[in-house]
Amino acid sequence: ATWTPDAGWHDAGLRPYGPLSLDPATATLHYAQSIFEGLKAYRHEDGSIWTFRPDANGTRFQRSAARMALPELPVESFVESLDLLVRTDSEWVPSGGETSLYLRPFMFASEVFLGVRPAKHVTYSVIASPAGAYFASGVKPVSIWLSSEYTRAAPGGTGAAKCAGNYAASLVAQQEALVNGCDQVCFLDAQERKWVEELGGMNLYFVRADGSITTPSLTGTILEGITRDSILTLAADLQHKVEERAVSIDEWREGVASGEITEVFACGTAAVVTPLGRLAWNGGELRMGDEPGPVTQEIRTALLDIQYGRAQDRHGWMHRIM
Ligand code: PMP
Repeated sequence: ATWTPDAGWHDAGLRPYGPLSLDPATATLHYAQSIFEGLKAYRHEDGSIWTFRPDANGTRFQRSAARMALPELPVESFVESLDLLVRTDSEWVPSGGETSLYLRPFMFASEVFLGVRPAKHVTYSVIASPAGAYFASGVKPVSIWLSSEYTRAAPGGTGAAKCAGNYAASLVAQQEALVNGCDQVCFLDAQERKWVEELGGMNLYFVRADGSITTPSLTGTILEGITRDSILTLAADLQHKVEERAVSIDEWREGVASGEITEVFACGTAAVVTPLGRLAWNGGELRMGDEPGPVTQEIRTALLDIQYGRAQDRHGWMHRIM
């Protein structure tokens, strides 16, 4: 669909997948006035197809749009666009295992001009791609590189928005992680370089010896993950004490060393719940175990069981498409 100030949203419709032809002066190519979302369509055993909390993605998309001076897309239109695409291409929703159809809604400045101001021509689109299980052969702990040089987001910046620029800024740190033999990068806060924020594309949780779990609070500089939010509820359902608060990197290191922190996991749409096995930084490393811990596995299974229709959807999270 297209948005202009006079006509609002118009020209909505299904088009065959193919290249976009863009004028070289298209605003988004220069100033990254661009946002996106990521969610999955799941095929249940009875063949029905569902999304998980698409209204939450739609609400986050609205917040991202507001932060990037992009027009508001009603949540109902967002959800409807996903439903329409999935219904039309339902044969692409795989079945079996932890497979899904990954959905990528995005909005960008499609006006042709070189001045710096919010665009007056904006495009919204959704594409989809079948996704296999994130872990092909059993859940394996991943290794994390603690970035000391780079931060992801500063107060007043765009850290809480799912905008293209955040990811552009994180790439060099992700590259550093790979060069240092790690899978993912972990960012600290920009001001004190002391507080744990999140990974490149996942939020973090710490499990304590008493079974309680802690996640860094939303400070305005981390992405409000929908998986993170769902786990706050799920973990409480499973009788874990849940806490949102600031966690320092020293608390992480000392907690693992002393046995106070027994498991650390990351969470997000793509990898669901992923155990962390190792934290490395310039001059040191911390080992956190070669096998996923029991609480990590319990929460991972509880979430997947809801998403794949094997457990009762007590919170009304699932949205049936067909
Ligand atoms: N943080 C960042 C930076 C992300 O890109 C993502 C993925 N959207 C997440 C956290 C996890 O969010 P969600 O659970 O909504 O996928």
